[in-house]
Amino acid sequence: MASGDDDALVLVDPRTGGVVGDLACTPVAAVVSQVAAARVAGALWAARPLLDRMAVVRALGTALLARGSDLVAVLGAEIGKPSGEAWTSEVVTLGELFDHWLAVIEDELEPRSLDLNPVNYPGKRVEVVPEPLGVVALIMPWNYPIHLPMRTIVPALLAGNAVVFKPSEHAARCGALLAEVFATVLPPNLVVTVQGGPPQGAAVIAAGVDKVIFTGSVAGGRAVARQAAELLIPTALELGSKDAAIVLHDAKLGRAVEGVLWGAFHNAGQDCASVERALVDRRIVGQFTDALVARAKELRLGDDIGPLIDARAVAKVHAQVLDAVARGATLLCGGQPVEGGFFYPATVLTGVPTDCPLWTEETFGPVLPIAAFDGEDQAVAMADDSQYGLCVSVWTRDVARGEALARRVRCGVSYVNNCCFSGPMGGASWGGRKHSGHGVTGSVFGLHGLVQPRTVVVDRFFGQKELWWYPYTPALTTMAEGLVELARSGGARFTGLRKMLGGLIGRWKT
Ligand code: NAD
Repeated sequence: MASGDDDALVLVDPRTGGVVGDLACTPVAAVVSQVAAARVAGALWAARPLLDRMAVVRALGTALLARGSDLVAVLGAEIGKPSGEAWTSEVVTLGELFDHWLAVIEDELEPRSLDLNPVNYPGKRVEVVPEPLGVVALIMPWNYPIHLPMRTIVPALLAGNAVVFKPSEHAARCGALLAEVFATVLPPNLVVTVQGGPPQGAAVIAAGVDKVIFTGSVAGGRAVARQAAELLIPTALELGSKDAAIVLHDAKLGRAVEGVLWGAFHNAGQDCASVERALVDRRIVGQFTDALVARAKELRLGDDIGPLIDARAVAKVHAQVLDAVARGATLLCGGQPVEGGFFYPATVLTGVPTDCPLWTEETFGPVLPIAAFDGEDQAVAMADDSQYGLCVSVWTRDVARGEALARRVRCGVSYVNNCCFSGPMGGASWGGRKHSGHGVTGSVFGLHGLVQPRTVVVDRFFGQKELWWYPYTPALTTMAEGLVELARSGGARFTGLRKMLGGLIGRWKT
């Protein structure tokens, strides 16, 4: 990002570190009119029948999948994702995402009728109708620049919203490619793409959107939440983490090693749900560590582990490693940046003091500290001893025990014998606790955050007055007492009925 808010973004290939071009930012001053255009487009969109909206969204899914190889190419050029990883995590998952929402959306948006007591509420119909929020803003990071915006754009559009999408300044080309596909299928301005950095993000919020869904760092989330709070705009914050994998004594060792290896090093460790701490039963920690280090040494830079996003990220990761080693940690492999590009090798350490940033802060790089525990209570306490709480994984042959143990850890997603892969699933909730954020994307709980429920009350009772309207007479009190007693079980029911009827007649007479 250049110095002025509106300066063009400088595009860098993280595989070489070389500048490959630039891309125009959306001028900050233009953001207000962009948001206004989205609001107009959203109102027209919301008025269209759901089946019609579904047809357009289905066409969007088809158009995106048809551009699969282009998406993978730009993910490689811009983020350095190895192609197998780009296909599986960003493109295959898109198909499933669209399929899920198109299958469930009619039921999920169905109005819910209340079952009313006809004595208390004669002639009344009450239903809760989900309505679009209006304009939903997405402020997105660079690490999964396709699936992260799409996991909200798909349900947001189906629910009748317009979207203002601000891609990361480090993933502007991915954002531009998405915008190109949107333009072929969606009505104009239904999804507006605002290119730029934090100033453009702040301008989107200031323009008066109806919700902000922010995915990114804790610092960014805090700034966004502060700005949105001033404007009373609701937020969902998907932030960083320091997830633990707990490897129990009875784990299938080969799978646990391969799973934790992938959990720590896929996407070069730049995943909010990366395994950033391996906690291993002391009885197997030696065996586990030897096997994991042997496999980590085999991972190929470029093919298995892409680059970090920029030189600053390399410096941050390396500083955490150096600090831990200086304070007594043992480096078992990796630990040195590689010349050319922003690569950092798979790095494994033991004996990391628990007050080191490598143990307490999100590393967001391919670095795995391993520590031993004695007993399940200690494993849970160690996993929970973090400011974050996004995911945990437990590795064991006893899946019931693993599930129970994982549920004791304070976080939003728990895995048994797996890790890190459920984020793009439309039907699964994604969201954390503590500094990992608040609010949810994915699942019906995420959809609830994209609609405003409207309660609609329609009365076909044309009596002069309701029982609870004026005048407040003793008969009203008697009737109300009777209704409460009636609702209770046991001997009070008969007296309740008597009182209620007596009160009712008294009310009727007055
Ligand atoms: P970041 O916070 O630097 O930027 C994220 C987005 O916010 C970018 O679009 C940026 O331009 C914008 N932004 C930053 N500060 C802003 C401000 N003050 N006002 C408005 N907009 C602002 O994060 P990043 O480096 O792009 O992403 C990496 C982080 O994202 C990691 O911490 C990672 O754990 C987290 N992440 C979380 C999830 C999740 O689901 N929990 C998923 C992916 C990434």
